[in-house]
Parts: sequence; C-alpha cells; structure tokens
Amino acid sequence: MSSSIRFRIVGEAFRKKAIDIPNRTERPSEFFAKYVFNKEKMYRYLPAKVYKKMCDVIDNGATLDLDTADAVAAGMKKWAMELGVTHCTHWFQPLTEGTAEKHDGFVEHDGKGGLVEEFTGKQLVQQEPDASSFPSGGIRSTFEARGYSAWDPASPVFVMGDTLMIPTVFISYTGEALDYKAPLKKALKAVDKAATQVARYFYPKVNKVVSNLGWEQEYFLMDADLYGARPDMLLTGRTLMGHSSAKDQQMDDHYFGAIPERVAAFMKDLEIQALELGIPCKTRHNEVAPNQFELAPIFEETNLAVDHNMLLMSLMQKVARKHGFRCLLHEKPFKGINGSGKHNNWSLATDTGILLHAPGKTPMDNLRFITFVVETLMAVYRHNGLLKASIISATNAHRLGGHEAPPAIVSAFLGAQLTEVLNRLEESDDNTIFNLSGKQAILLDIPQIPQLSRDNTDRNRTSPFAFTGNRFEFRAVGSQANCAAAMIVLNTAMAEALTSFRTRVDKLIASGMEMTKAIICVLRDDIKTCKPVRFDGNGYSDEWKEEAKRRGLDTETSAPLMLDHYLDKETVTMFQSQKVMTEGELRARTEIKLETYIKKIQIEARIFGDLCLNHIIPVATRYQSQLIENVSRVASVFSGTEAKALSSNNILLIKDISEHSAYITENVQRLIDARKVANRLDDVREKAIAYHDNVAPLIEDIRKHVDKLELIVDDELWPLPKYREMLFIR
Ligand code: ADP
Ligand code: MG
Repeated sequence: MSSSIRFRIVGEAFRKKAIDIPNRTERPSEFFAKYVFNKEKMYRYLPAKVYKKMCDVIDNGATLDLDTADAVAAGMKKWAMELGVTHCTHWFQPLTEGTAEKHDGFVEHDGKGGLVEEFTGKQLVQQEPDASSFPSGGIRSTFEARGYSAWDPASPVFVMGDTLMIPTVFISYTGEALDYKAPLKKALKAVDKAATQVARYFYPKVNKVVSNLGWEQEYFLMDADLYGARPDMLLTGRTLMGHSSAKDQQMDDHYFGAIPERVAAFMKDLEIQALELGIPCKTRHNEVAPNQFELAPIFEETNLAVDHNMLLMSLMQKVARKHGFRCLLHEKPFKGINGSGKHNNWSLATDTGILLHAPGKTPMDNLRFITFVVETLMAVYRHNGLLKASIISATNAHRLGGHEAPPAIVSAFLGAQLTEVLNRLEESDDNTIFNLSGKQAILLDIPQIPQLSRDNTDRNRTSPFAFTGNRFEFRAVGSQANCAAAMIVLNTAMAEALTSFRTRVDKLIASGMEMTKAIICVLRDDIKTCKPVRFDGNGYSDEWKEEAKRRGLDTETSAPLMLDHYLDKETVTMFQSQKVMTEGELRARTEIKLETYIKKIQIEARIFGDLCLNHIIPVATRYQSQLIENVSRVASVFSGTEAKALSSNNILLIKDISEHSAYITENVQRLIDARKVANRLDDVREKAIAYHDNVAPLIEDIRKHVDKLELIVDDELWPLPKYREMLFIR
C-alpha cells in the first residue's frame, strides 16, 4: 500500500458516520428471547403432555424418548416456519475454540415429484457431521472416524436468520468428548451432586445445586478499512509491529468515558439482537484502553451462560461488520496498552434459592458460607496450576503477567473482612466456638459476619481469583476463550473438594461428634492447608513471584509447560473420580492445545517475516536513498566542511536505517531457520516448547527495530496504519 492510500483510508475512517438504529417501541422485556424456543414457546407450540415431559427433561435431566422428540420437532418446526426459517443446524463447540454448524434444509421429497418441509425428532436429536477435519487429538484415529452431535435440551434452540440453531454436544463414535460442552455438562453434574450433599448439612430440603456464571466480555473495535490494511491483524488478530502512540491510555480518559457515536450505535444494535436471542445483556461501558469496551449480561446457569457467550462473540463480529468495524476479541491486539479478558463470575446456588457463596442472616447460614468459601479455596489451592493451564493459550499468554492483567500465578483474594473471619476460625479453640447458646452468636468467636456489600469488599484488580461479595471472579480467562475450559476445571475441582470435605465430616459424625463441630473441625484443617493460595497483596510485584514459589504455587510462565498440568497425576485422578474426563480424553485435549499453540505462533512468524521483507525493508531503503540523494546534493552545492555540517544529521539517520535494516534482515532469516528446526521435531510438546523458546521471542526482538524505523522513516512513505490512527474512533 502506498502512503497516499493509507492517508485516504485514515481520512475516511475519521469521517464515517454512525448508522442510525431506530428506537424500538417495545421494551426489552417484550422482545427478550423473541427468537428462542424457550418454555414459553414450548407451552404455546407443544401438546400439554409433551410440554410437561420436556420440563422434566430440562429441569431434572430425564431422558428424551424419540416419540417426545418427534412431537417437539413438530412444534418447533411450526414456530420456526412462522419466522421464515428454512434450515436447521446442530450448533456445537469443537476444540478449535469457535463454534461449528452444518446447515440442512427442511425439505424432503413428497413422493409426488415435489418437495415438502420436514423436520423430525431424529434430526433434532442427533446428527453425524463429517467430523474428520475437526481436531480430535488422535482420538478418532485410534477409535472411529465418525463424530456425532446430540441435542442438549438444557440449552434452548434458537433462530438466527433463516436457520434453526440446535445446541449440541459433539462426541466420537465411542463416546469420547470432542468438544467443550460434553465435559462441561459432566462437571456441572459432579458439582451439583457433591454440593447438594454438603448443602444438606445446613438445609436438608436442598435437591439440586446449580453453578452460575456471569461473564464480562471485553473487546476492541477497530475501523474495518484500517483493519483490512493491516495484514497482521487480518491473519493473527493482533498487531505484530507498530510503535506506541504518543497518547494512548495514560490520561485514563477512555474508561467509563462518553461512548463515541458510531460505537454507541453498534452497541445498541448488538444489544437488541442479543436480547432477542435470549442473552440478558445488562452492562456496557468503555474500558481502560482506547477503543476498548465491555459487555456483561446478568449471570445464568453455567452451561447456558457458556453457550450465550459463544453466541455473543459471533454476533459481535457480525454486527461490527455492519457498522464498518471489526470486533477484536484477541487478548492483546496492541502492544503497550491493556489487553482484553473475560472475567468469569462464578458461584453456586441451591434450587431452594440460596446463594452458597453469599453470607446469610443466621450463624448457620454463615457457617455454610464459610464452608463453601473455604472449599473453593481448597479447589483453587490443589489445582492452581491446572486452573492456569485451563486459561492459557498462545494469545492469552501475551496478557498474563502484563500491564493491568492477572499475574501468571493463580492465587485467591478474600479481602480484609473475610480474611479475619478465617483467621479467627483457624486460631480459636473448639470450646469457645461450639458453645451453642440460643439463636444469637452461636459461634462465639465468630461474630455474625456482617452483610458484605459490594462496596466494602476491597477490589483488588491484581488478583486472578477474587472474592467479590457473593461470588468468586476468575479474571485470568482470555477474551476470545471458550469459558467452558475454565469452568470445567473449576467446577470439577470444587466437586472434588466438596466430596473430600463431606467424607471427612461424615467420618467425624460417625465417630460421635456433633455435626456443627465436625464441620468446623474439618474447616479448621482446610483453612490451614489452603493458606498458601490466599494472597491479598500486589499480584504484579516481583516479591510476590518469589513468595509464591516459596509457598509451592505454580509460577511457570511458559505456556507449553503450563499445559503439562492437564496430565498431572492429581488432575487425572480428579477428572476420573468425578467422572468428567478419562485420561485418554485429557491426552487428546492437551495435544490439541499444543497443536493450536504451535500453529498460532507459526502463522505469526510467517506473516511477520513477510511484512518485514516486503513492507518495511523496501520502504526503509527508499527513504534511505532519498537521504543519500540529499547528502550528495548538499555536497554539490556547499563546500566540504560546510556540507558535512549540514548533512551530519542525515548521515546519522542513514547509518541508523542501515543498522536497523541489517538487523531485521539478518534476524528474519534466523526466525525462518528457528521455525524450520522446530518444524522438524516430531513430538508435539517439544515442538511447542521450541516455538515458545526460540521462535516467539525473535518476533518480539525484531519488532523493536521495526518500531524504531517507524519513528525514523518519513510518515508519507510508511505503509501500515499506525497505532495513533488505529486506536481512536471518533
Ligand atoms: P464488575 O464490577 O466486576 O464489572 P458487574 O456488577 O458488572 O461486576 O457484574 C459482573 C457479572 O457478575 C455480571 O454478569 C453479574 O450478573 C455477575 N454476577 C453477579 N452476582 C453473581 C453471582 N452471585 N454469581 C455469579 N455471577 C454473578
Ligand atoms: Mg468483574
């Protein structure tokens, strides 16, 4: 691209006007879930008996028989055709991290030479997409080539455009999970079972415990034309080069600032469409970095929340295009300013309406609250390395440990109030505690925990796992990740912790100890055990890195090595004992994660090399020639010493350009060689390590020289849109 084109694109981007999104006359509550086949639609479109059966399937996990499925499909078809739907698809979440779909028309031969619209229970319940090109980490080659998708009735069917979308799990012929949803559902079942039993110590009527997830999606917007002029953005989702803008986020003027008009129109459009699809959007605001924003819905049951996040991410990209933007979901699109994450707000709640992670009114409520907090800490302590593995990726690796991002150590923040409660419980002796006397102050040493309001929980932004009043917030999840990866680990680890807790409490009860006393005894042990994971200080500091190492927490910073935790003995035992994943499934998953890691860096290295050689070096050389030309002209006009003095600055620039250019050319060759060496390795783990150790750092190193050239070379010649041009939507 010549610079005149760059200027034109920048100029056009700045002149673009917001698309007018007319106000709706209906209220959000009226068009919410308009395109979702939820219970309300089922009630209207299904026979009463079928409706009742479906409620049993959805609420209690009853199995769905084919007759019911046929009846449901008939009702669904009627509803969908009224909306102009012509196709249906199973919609699933393969391990590539996006979503996948294969559309089938509703049409069938009618036997009379014509066509008839048809949609059967079988089509609803099961499909056999040609799965051979989805990653399976070797599962399918060892077992069977086929993959099946099967309807998940817990997540309602919805309509997008002309298509009926059916959320499904994706499994191999022999039943191994090839997706995120299948193990997530198993993890949720495990935590339901374990938590229900523990909750019954306090509330005997509890029948079910639900895991809640409220995610906060951060993202950047960028003008579509500027995006198209950056080959690195197009192919990798981030800028591989680009000098920082003189002004970016240092004024803190973007966070919660006024939303630019074009962006406001995008947000409005997006929210309306998301609400129609049943995503309960609530919050929108500017984020810290320029052009960075956030959208958060109200929390939902975890399985549904994960589906809604996947759906929202694809909707964001679609709506952004309509508004002349690209939505950047990459964790670190721009160097030197904040990256994007996806806080996962997580809690457990009973079917009787009790939020298990929230303090309550009675001392017994508060003992339950402490139990669930302490066992969460146990889960995070035992599997802190695995939790980190669950969120790591080639893209999120740029964010972890960076500026204003969670550190690469998973610790938990509790705040002063809760810390004091746990300390007291740990230090007090049995007798003072169990002096049960009347309704008030049952736990003498633990005064009734005051209602923790959001305002007085100290909000430590540096903690990757923070208690925030009635839930924990796992902040290390990447902005483009499927939340399921983290939710599978967290919920399974919680199930394991609660199972162990109950076993030990029951043992004490069986030996004759009173229940409350038994619970406190076990809690006291656990508070001591999990202490190393509690940290309320500055998670970004170097002292913490040393301290965490001493405490035995995982401090690994290399992404491929973090992934080793998926195959730790404790990990395999945890997943197997909770019946969530087998060792084979874990192996497959790890292999896919490593492969994805390799491919991402491979693509970055390639496009980076191309840009250096085809875009940067030629332009630097051209500018250098102009300078040389100028020096020789000056010499032809002025005398020797005068000419020297007049050209001294240009001569320095000429030398600078030579040095940077030589460095870039030489090291791009080293980059290519490093890639070739890595590619020859057969073992996928070794290869990922080689990419991490030898390829990725070279890109960062060479980039510094490219960014220096950007400052030297005449702005008119520079081919790529600059940070200052990409980062400010007007
Ligand atoms: P923040 O101040 O961190 O931006 P918000 O108030 O925007 O927090 O809430 C973030 C998310 O947390 C929302 O999706 C909200 O619904 C969710 N949330 C609130 N309470 C809970 C809870 N008990 N369990 C799970 N998620 C929750
Ligand atoms: Mg938050």
